[in-house]
Amino acid sequence: MPLLSLENLSTHYVSQQGARVVRAVDEVTLSLEAGETLGIVGESGSGKSTLALTILRLLPAAARITSGRMMFEGENLLDKSDEEMRRVRGKRIAMILQDPMASLNPLFTIGDQVGEPIRVHEGASRASAWKRAIGLLRSVRIASPETRVTQFPHEMSGGMRQRIVGAVGISCEPRLLIADEPTTSLDLTIQAQYLKLLRDLQREHGLALIFITHNLGIVAKMCDQLAVMYAGRVVEHGPVSRIFNQPAHPYTKALLGSIPRMTDNRDHLTAIDGQPPDLASMPPGCAFAPRCPEAFDRCRAEAPPEFALDHETRARCWRAPVDASAKAAS
Ligand code: ATP
Ligand code: MG
Repeated sequence: MPLLSLENLSTHYVSQQGARVVRAVDEVTLSLEAGETLGIVGESGSGKSTLALTILRLLPAAARITSGRMMFEGENLLDKSDEEMRRVRGKRIAMILQDPMASLNPLFTIGDQVGEPIRVHEGASRASAWKRAIGLLRSVRIASPETRVTQFPHEMSGGMRQRIVGAVGISCEPRLLIADEPTTSLDLTIQAQYLKLLRDLQREHGLALIFITHNLGIVAKMCDQLAVMYAGRVVEHGPVSRIFNQPAHPYTKALLGSIPRMTDNRDHLTAIDGQPPDLASMPPGCAFAPRCPEAFDRCRAEAPPEFALDHETRARCWRAPVDASAKAAS
């Protein structure tokens, strides 16, 4: 049984008058095994953060989850009450933002902040939560943690703050950690340290990771599985090596064509001609068809379903099954 499996999940933002419905996440099906890393890539506005917030059920008031199931450790998260979800968040599923200042409260000490999930979820006393916080800071390689717990966020460097956010994320030993990377470029040294930290935490704690990024070089280094999102849909999903060597969807091909080298450390996906569609008025047919060099009549008329290309790779493209069987035959 996978750790997390999203089945046909849709999240829409509805404007106050209900006149505008933005299909930010549209019939997404994905799964993730314990200990695995899933990368999610896609242009700005393709629905990546909305998908992450849907999993945590931390959506803004305008959002509605309109279809699907989210099975996590055998339970449908959509069946849980708000109170039950509060117990899942932080304890079994944690999210870390890469902007550490947005996640740390300037008014509280590091000890209180790292210890908070332990107090909330495990009912630990302040003193014992601080003790655990010291151990956690050590595990994210912060020197002199006994002193650091008494300090405030502004007394730390950017790289340290990031590690502290990581420590908050793993404080209750979640099974799944979701990291949403911002588009803004970080100091490369700090970025490399952060990625190493995530990998170490994953190895040491056996956690599964969903890593949202614009950087395909990072996907190549970090991820086992990859989901490529376009206009709210997952257009291709499978093992990273399979997708990098044999992309099936023309959008994935375009993205990969845009990386000169796997080690390239740019923090963005090179632009592809044309614009993604308005998610509130999607074209009929495949959302990528207007920009697709391989589109034919059917693509503009009828949205492709997900085709299974082998037992672990799926793509939403009318050409994909034909291409895949031609490749298999040759
Ligand atoms: P980025 O790479 O820029 O972070 P993203 O892939 O995370 O983009 P989302 O933030 O999930 O994209 O946005 C998906 C769509 O939902 C966009 O069209 C966006 O305008 C819309 N959207 C996001 N948040 C809201 C909101 N609170 N209310 C209405 N629409 C929203
Ligand atoms: Mg986002």
